[in-house]
Amino acid sequence: MHLSGDHLLDDLAKLGEIGAREGSGRTRLVLTPEDFEARRFLITRMKEARMQVRVDQVGNIIGRRGNSTKDDLPVLAFGSHIDTVPSAGTLDGCYGVLAGLEVIRTLNDERAETRHPLELISFSNEEGVRFPMMIGSKVASGIMDLETAYELRDNAGITYRQALEAGGLLEGALVAARRTPGEIGAWLELHIEQGPILESERLKIGVVESIVGLVHMLVTIQGRAGHAGTTPMNARRDPMLAAAQIILEVNKIGRELSRSSVGTVGLLNVQPGAMNVIPGKVEVGIDLRDISGERIDQGMQKVRSAIDVVCKKLG
Ligand SMILES: [Zn+2]
Repeated sequence: MHLSGDHLLDDLAKLGEIGAREGSGRTRLVLTPEDFEARRFLITRMKEARMQVRVDQVGNIIGRRGNSTKDDLPVLAFGSHIDTVPSAGTLDGCYGVLAGLEVIRTLNDERAETRHPLELISFSNEEGVRFPMMIGSKVASGIMDLETAYELRDNAGITYRQALEAGGLLEGALVAARRTPGEIGAWLELHIEQGPILESERLKIGVVESIVGLVHMLVTIQGRAGHAGTTPMNARRDPMLAAAQIILEVNKIGRELSRSSVGTVGLLNVQPGAMNVIPGKVEVGIDLRDISGERIDQGMQKVRSAIDVVCKKLG
């Protein structure tokens, strides 16, 4: 069987036009007019591919290819998401959904029957820019209940439920969002790599073996604020010096903990935060990730003892 790369690229380009702005990618935050337009595009495409389309209680779009020989076998599901972060590329999420669509169209062209029913799913609110992330898949998998999802609010105070209603997504008979265990036999998701490894190693595809866990830690370092011009060097208690050393330590721990570990300081809050003032207080935001929870714990232990050492040394 041969999939049409042209059809896929064509659909990616068309979907990518929705919410696009010259020079700044495309923005389709969930349940905004742009997202609604993208949803209509996808549903139209699914129907053209003769899928039975339903939208569930949390706004997940599910297209089913019903001509399996055994409709009661567990579903083989695939897909991703079509909402985006601000100024996004064309591939994140959309690649997984539209590649799934192309698989369905190819099976149709070949008049292929599958033993298991196939479902192409576009999960609502994967990105978590407007609302907390992954509402659609969390409710579908039972990690979050529907009422909790409905009450989540965006910055303007609009609930997820109201946002669904604004798009007319809660009209008519709704399909339960929660999937029962065993209903879905397997889930496949094609997704662009959001890191540089495949490209730098010239690999076409990689298989995800595990998902990283992460720990965030916000460290507050207290010092003594002072004038940068009049406070002698030996009379300072500068928390920025400690922050600098902690940043280096986090980097070192990220490098050394394991092959999969990464450590980042991406946040510094400096108070009062002026060029001519020795800070009185610095907050350091640490992000440590690894595929092993045990190693994350070890890493955080190392971070903590590094902080102790630095703070003792600097008083
Ligand atoms: Zn994605």
